[in-house]
Amino acid sequence: MEDEREQTPNEVIIPGYRYTCLKCETQDPVREALEEAQADQARHRQDAHSGMEPMVGDPIVEAEYDRKPALAEEDPPAPKAEDPVQLWQWIGFGIIVLIVLNFLFGK
Ligand SMILES: [Zn+2]
Repeated sequence: MEDEREQTPNEVIIPGYRYTCLKCETQDPVREALEEAQADQARHRQDAHSGMEPMVGDPIVEAEYDRKPALAEEDPPAPKAEDPVQLWQWIGFGIIVLIVLNFLFGK
C-alpha cells in the first residue's frame, strides 16, 4: 500500500496539526499552526467535556496541511544546443574578418 504522505520530487508537503478526540471519535480540520490546533483542543474540551481532558486521550497529531508544487527544478534543464551554434557563428565571423582584412591589406 502506498504511503499517502510520500513526498514526490515535484511537491513540497506543508506540515500541519490536527486535533483529535478519541472519546468522541472526532477530529478537527488540519491547521497550519500548532496554536490553532491547541485552540481547537481547548474549545472541544470546553464544549464537549466541560473543560476536562478525556481519559482515553485527545491528542494533537501531525498531519499534512497542504502540498504545493516545487518551484525549483520543475522545468527540465535547457538543452545545451546553443553553444555549438555560437561557436559556428564565431567561426563564420572570424572568416569574414579574415576576408575583409585580406581584401584591405593583402595587396
Ligand atoms: Zn471529545
